[in-house]
Amino acid sequence: MILFLFINNTISEELFKNNHNVHNDDTTFKDFLAWRFKGDRPDRVSIEISDEFNNAKRLPENSYAVWIGHASFLIHNKNINILTDPIFSKRASPFSFMGPKRLIPPGINIDKLPPIDVVTISHAHYDHLDLPSLKKLYKKNKDTLFLVPMNLGKLLKSSGVKNVVEMNWWDTITIKESLITFVPVHHWSSRTPFDKNETLWGGWWFETNSSKLLHLGDTGYTYDFVTIHKELGSPDFAFIPIGAYEPRSLMKDSHLNPEESIQAAIDLKTNKAIGMHWGTFMLTDEPVLDPPIRLNKELERLNLENLFLIPKPGEIISLE
Ligand SMILES: [Zn+2]
Repeated sequence: MILFLFINNTISEELFKNNHNVHNDDTTFKDFLAWRFKGDRPDRVSIEISDEFNNAKRLPENSYAVWIGHASFLIHNKNINILTDPIFSKRASPFSFMGPKRLIPPGINIDKLPPIDVVTISHAHYDHLDLPSLKKLYKKNKDTLFLVPMNLGKLLKSSGVKNVVEMNWWDTITIKESLITFVPVHHWSSRTPFDKNETLWGGWWFETNSSKLLHLGDTGYTYDFVTIHKELGSPDFAFIPIGAYEPRSLMKDSHLNPEESIQAAIDLKTNKAIGMHWGTFMLTDEPVLDPPIRLNKELERLNLENLFLIPKPGEIISLE
């Protein structure tokens, strides 16, 4: 799958572009093939998960978030329930029999979810836009609104998922007194060999009169974080990817490494960052358990030990 995603680097028209060409990417298809067929991959290990949410008799009334795994969170923000990039499937892949397989079960059993008001999708990649999960969520609650980047509406609608709104960077929509804004990050999109960057990618900003939250989706390092802060202010909590960063030569344009995740938090001037996008699927070369270890080492060096939370999947994180 990753192979044909890379082939389309060379053959398709690109509709959307990043704001900044920070990395001057000079890798070639040959470099990519050499990496894919190198063979040695990190060991499959499981990170620790919590049954706190699944076993909760009553859910907190105050704002909270639960990491489901990868970039999927349940966010209860004041009076609204949001799901970000929900993936409950066994694999992040167009195929049920091949492609990256989960290392851990979802931190929330899909049947235990409260009624969901809004699902946000950051971009088209299979580990963030999982159609089987979206179909299940729509079937469970026909009132759920699905917010997607420009040009992704067609895919959901053709799969029977209704209530879809496409958004461009800086578009805002108000739902139950929450202001939701789509913001630029540095990434790309594709689902087939022929559709590179034909659909947009980005992060989601959620604002009520008492809190500002930001979910970055999937991103490389970019000046966009400074712009987001200039336009919208300092988030109280920013959900920031910390994994899928090796080998650097091939991943730097798509994914933050832990040092860059810290810089992103600093650029955004977030009060607190929540680490995500690790420990769920093996997409890249770093050992599964490395991202938070490397992150904490750097936080210690910078005297910023309290900047990041690294939750367990299934654990209830207070957003107060
Ligand atoms: Zn991606």
